[in-house]
Amino acid sequence: MSSTPITAATAFAARPEWDRARRIVVKIGSALLADRTNGELKLQWLASLIDDVAALRAAGRQVVLVSSGAIALGRFKLGLPKGPLELEQSQAAAAVGQISLAAAYQALAGQHGMTVAQILLTLGDTEQRRRYLNARHTIETLLELGAIPVVNENDTVATAEIKYGDNDRLSARVASMVSADCLVLLSDIDGLYTAPPHADPNARHIPVVTEITPEIEAMAGAPGTELSKGGMKTKIEAGKIALGAGTNMVITTGDIMHPLRAISEGSKVTWFLASQDPVTAKKRWIAGQLEPRGTLFIDAGAEKALFAGKSLLPAGVARVDGTFDRGDAVIIRSTDGRELGRGLVAYPRSEAEKIAGKRSADIEALIGYNGGDELVHRDDMALSRK
Ligand code: GLU
Repeated sequence: MSSTPITAATAFAARPEWDRARRIVVKIGSALLADRTNGELKLQWLASLIDDVAALRAAGRQVVLVSSGAIALGRFKLGLPKGPLELEQSQAAAAVGQISLAAAYQALAGQHGMTVAQILLTLGDTEQRRRYLNARHTIETLLELGAIPVVNENDTVATAEIKYGDNDRLSARVASMVSADCLVLLSDIDGLYTAPPHADPNARHIPVVTEITPEIEAMAGAPGTELSKGGMKTKIEAGKIALGAGTNMVITTGDIMHPLRAISEGSKVTWFLASQDPVTAKKRWIAGQLEPRGTLFIDAGAEKALFAGKSLLPAGVARVDGTFDRGDAVIIRSTDGRELGRGLVAYPRSEAEKIAGKRSADIEALIGYNGGDELVHRDDMALSRK
């Protein structure tokens, strides 16, 4: 591991997007965490990263970590050969390595008095709206409770067809799921170049990307090391997901101590800048792309609350119509039928009916669990007029 200091030659101005980011998702690649020669966890480096996370948290910012490394750590412990692994072997390696990984995060975060929470996701958890809402709800709850979610793919159960395979895209999905302001991909390279820099001496570093054009896509080379699945290609795929969700993305090197602090100090990185913020992007998606499955008719008090920026609580709902599941899009109408907006509903029709008109405090008594106080959260709602 090199611990290159930030010198004047590499000093760039820190972007305002970084200083403004309240919710940050950080993806940590396998090559940064596991020593390639002996599969040991690079504890000292990870400690410096967790120091940076603690500093961000102390400044009131929320951090979600998406950590690779389970397979890279586990394969050594199981004595698996070098080179590509069979699916069963990588599933077994992940099962072993994930324990060390989680233990390391827990120990290091504990030194700062921080609590970490392990979340293992499969592709379906981020693609199917119902499971997506469940996963999001858990991550949001953990953040509210002050914990640091540490996410990885659930490699042990994910088979080839239902697998991301790389944490670049997984982290972008997670960032979009929680409407993060910024996604940081800590990599073994300090950003995007016009060509792979190890192969082409004329390759130029690109500091800012605002749109992923075919030219940008053509700049991605093949994966860099045998330990990490992702190369520049999956990072650019991640960029598409992030930008589409209104989340800014940074590709930067993790091959230095304190890699997040380095971003604040203006280190050399590539920024992918989204043209709109995450909430606006999501609302456009809800208003424009999703086929509504039902209608919630709401009373005048709730209508007023919505236009004052509040979420829709069950108490304000007079009537429910249609056949919808948790996570489906619904139309929100006044009782006289005016369309007020659209949103993603947090309960299926059968349960929405039971809690309509009731207080949120009674949700659990009415349906046996509390899936959140809101029927439609304000971040999941696009109103028809201001
Ligand atoms: N989920 C894999 C692991 O933890 C890593 C995938 C990747 O390298 O992006 O080992």
